[in-house]
Amino acid sequence: MMQYRFDGKKVDLTEKEWKDRLTSEEFEVLRKQGTEPAFQNAYYDNKQHGIYRCAGCGLPLYSSDAKYDSGTGWPSFWKPLSEENITLHEDRKLSTRRAEVVCSRCGGHLGHLFDDGPAPTGKRFCMNSAALKIEPTKES
Ligand SMILES: [Zn+2]
Repeated sequence: MMQYRFDGKKVDLTEKEWKDRLTSEEFEVLRKQGTEPAFQNAYYDNKQHGIYRCAGCGLPLYSSDAKYDSGTGWPSFWKPLSEENITLHEDRKLSTRRAEVVCSRCGGHLGHLFDDGPAPTGKRFCMNSAALKIEPTKES
């Protein structure tokens, strides 16, 4: 998985440039910390094999191998492809314990991390489909 590791080169665009590049749903989630509706998004029930990339900058974030059905209505993963590719921010907006998950390359909001995921990590990376784009791969 070395080829998927973040090389440290950031993507830094203005709000106008992001608006031009993204769809309105992508912009709302990635740049405005929006949350799309549960069960009404592209990937919550997606069973394709592949690599989920950041919809903002293309950085590879998750593999379908770590995707599981959390029952929440959002695509959920128990680990990222590489720890460097995501950045966690403590979220003080709610009293529940969770961290905001952002893309390390473009700073785009992806979703949240909770501590109620499955083994072996016990983590639940609860993502917005609008923040992701799958690159399908053949089943191995
Ligand atoms: Zn990104």
